[in-house]
Amino acid sequence: MKPVSDVPGECNARLYIGDDYGDGTATMRCKLPAGHTGPHSESFTRSTFLPPGRQTVTITWEIDERADEEACARASEELEADEGTMP
Ligand SMILES: [Zn+2]
Repeated sequence: MKPVSDVPGECNARLYIGDDYGDGTATMRCKLPAGHTGPHSESFTRSTFLPPGRQTVTITWEIDERADEEACARASEELEADEGTMP
């Protein structure tokens, strides 16, 4: 893991998220009801050996990245199709 330097004047707290599927990413999935307002959110229990009240991690974010993922997949498929027709 690449070390990250602290920035003076900022909190600099860390959260280390695992690569849960071994694909180089750690994916968050919003568990709020469909059509909710406000930021997306996922909460999980970090570790049961921490004191009660400090075991839950809640992550919030603004943008649903599935749209970007689908656009990237389409671009990749188009690129592969183009490469297939090259002489
Ligand atoms: Zn959501």
